[in-house]
Amino acid sequence: MPATKGHVLVTGGAGYIGSHTCKALAGAGYVPVTLDSMVYGHPWAVQWGPLVEGDLRDADLLDSVFALFRPMAVLHFAAFTSVGESVADPGRYYDNNVGGTIALLEAMRRAGCATVVFSSTAAVYGEPVVPGAPMDETHPLAPVNPYGRAKLAVEGMLADYGAAYGLRHMSLRYFNAAGADPDGELGEEHDPETHLIPLAIGAALGTRASLKVFGQDYPTPDGTCVRDYVHVADLARAHILALEHLGAGGAPGSLNLGTGRGHSVREVLDAVGRAAGRPVPHEAAPRRAGDPGLLVAAAGRAREVLGWAPEFTDMDALVATAWRWHAAQAQPR
Ligand code: UDP
Repeated sequence: MPATKGHVLVTGGAGYIGSHTCKALAGAGYVPVTLDSMVYGHPWAVQWGPLVEGDLRDADLLDSVFALFRPMAVLHFAAFTSVGESVADPGRYYDNNVGGTIALLEAMRRAGCATVVFSSTAAVYGEPVVPGAPMDETHPLAPVNPYGRAKLAVEGMLADYGAAYGLRHMSLRYFNAAGADPDGELGEEHDPETHLIPLAIGAALGTRASLKVFGQDYPTPDGTCVRDYVHVADLARAHILALEHLGAGGAPGSLNLGTGRGHSVREVLDAVGRAAGRPVPHEAAPRRAGDPGLLVAAAGRAREVLGWAPEFTDMDALVATAWRWHAAQAQPR
């Protein structure tokens, strides 16, 4: 067997960002072990290491996974991710996202595994205090929905476990994860899909309805919402840098992952139209509840701490990877 740098447990490794990170881990010489409930995960997304199907709250299962694979670290993606669902059913979100994490951290303690990188989110900030200004990690933490509050609760737990038990931890606060594996082996598939780029691509392919542009009167240059779209392969790379930072004794904490550049809904639709070679069918629709006009990262700290910088800084290049994936899925098989 070829030498590897060791096993890494990836909770939620069958999901969108988790699966792209498994590929990056394998490319960097690690063996990713996916633990996924498969409630939202995809069997086809697990290609670079073993899959264990099960729930994080199953303590016996966790103990057996740690005993069998002896992972050097955990990358913790497993969570429910729909903001709307979290508002409608907060109990389910706290139970799965917070309860699952307590079970995981306790299993790590029992197994003597002391390094974790956590999938956090810009939703921990809530509404920008200065509308339109980039948000850095010192921005007040005031999430506006149960999804964001559960993620923030976990960040707090990690800090407490660090202080009390020596857990090495890094929380990575993603802005808008987007794009697909540049090699075309993985992509984004949610059911139901709510994200702009896959919906716009579906509209251009004719596999989905005309895209509804939520809000035309935001205080942005073209009146539509502006977001910081960060490529999933860049997110994946940041996890490995965070793992290696912690492994080298680097300080724990929380870091934004974004490009520092915003794009409006209209700019994204134009980029999808260029990838498709035809305009994206779209129509004006009212604002979606809870959408701030502009969310952009101040992303300098991840560069200073991890040496991370996004490689996908061009919207056309980002959209091209997503287009290739979705167009291939739409082909009859
Ligand atoms: N959006 C839109 N139509 C859609 C889906 C999204 O206009 O069908 C807009 C949404 O208002 C937001 C941006 O696209 O400004 C990105 O939304 P997405 O749901 O992808 O991510 P979010 O910013 O909510 O995390």
